[in-house]
Amino acid sequence: MIARGDGGGDAPVTLADGFGRRIEYLRISVTDRCNFRCTYCMPREGLPWLPREELLSYEEIAEVVRQLAPLGLRRLRITGGEPTIRPQLATLVRLLRADAEVQEIALSTNGVRLPQLARELRAAGLDRVNMSADSLRPERIVRIARRDLGFDPVASLRAAEAAGLAPLKVNVVVMRGVNDDEIADFARLTLDHPWHVRFIELMPVGELRDLTWEHVVPTDELLDRLSAVGGLAPDAGPLRGNGPARYYRFAGAPGTVGVITPMTHTYCGSCNRVRLTADGRLRTCLFGDHEVPLRDALRRGEPLEPLFRQALAAKPEAHELLQMRTGGLRALSQVGG
Ligand code: SAM
Ligand code: SF4
Repeated sequence: MIARGDGGGDAPVTLADGFGRRIEYLRISVTDRCNFRCTYCMPREGLPWLPREELLSYEEIAEVVRQLAPLGLRRLRITGGEPTIRPQLATLVRLLRADAEVQEIALSTNGVRLPQLARELRAAGLDRVNMSADSLRPERIVRIARRDLGFDPVASLRAAEAAGLAPLKVNVVVMRGVNDDEIADFARLTLDHPWHVRFIELMPVGELRDLTWEHVVPTDELLDRLSAVGGLAPDAGPLRGNGPARYYRFAGAPGTVGVITPMTHTYCGSCNRVRLTADGRLRTCLFGDHEVPLRDALRRGEPLEPLFRQALAAKPEAHELLQMRTGGLRALSQVGG
């Protein structure tokens, strides 16, 4: 369903799915590979990677956006796998920025390469960054990521900040008995920095192996535990890019604390996004198998709009994660989480 905005005339085109949700946000995966092997995301030995010839080129991704942005998808996020390990990522940012319809370009990254890349990406037109960090302790980072790449989360956040990437969000996957003793340390970062620290409930996807429901820390418990740091008041959060998170702020703090609750409270009712996988499939839900392949049509020079409408019409009302129907669910790194 495509409609003109309320004002009529030249008001922007908006797009809604079969349940009336306004769809405006495209997450673009540029690779399924990663330089980390986070315990909650991939096995130590990695996954069966996509052959390189199956990946969309940067020019092909830009062409998908050129066709879909006028239909309403004007906010973009580049993700993966780990997007910063694909060579010349700034080239993609530049191509996307050149599209007059695109309003915002964000990046999801594990942060390892931000000190090297932040300035170049900002100069190419990147607006902001969400960075993952599950610990502030070097030895624990290595244990969770299963790679010793000298990652220093605070140094990477400072590099992104110095490059002018804002607002900066930090995503922490909370795991009981693994890193939940650091939630106060992460929350305290918001007392000194205008950073937005978001705690994510662990999800039962991918190769969790040793991680189970017992490792999930429900957000209500997390917020109770954070009250030991200080009083948290509900907050509107960062002015740009608010998705499924709920935000809070300590009195006088420049940053905010957010919670993302895929396990204990679903937010499918306000879902505004679709995903493009690295091999050119449009996914309308992170979970389940709701995909429409775009790549072959794209390479044949056919218009993508009919396929896009087909995908939107089939966007499910809600995911099935809570029913624990996890059989066949793929890791977030494979679907552009
Ligand atoms: N590599 C980048 C990163 O780590 O930010 C981008 C891709 S990663 C798949 C996107 C987000 O998914 C990260 O914030 C990561 O923590 C989160 N994620 C991956 N597997 C998860 C799981 N099983 N439960 C909760 N969050 C998960
Ligand atoms: Fe890589 Fe991100 Fe998955 Fe960690 S969460 S293994 S950094 S894709």
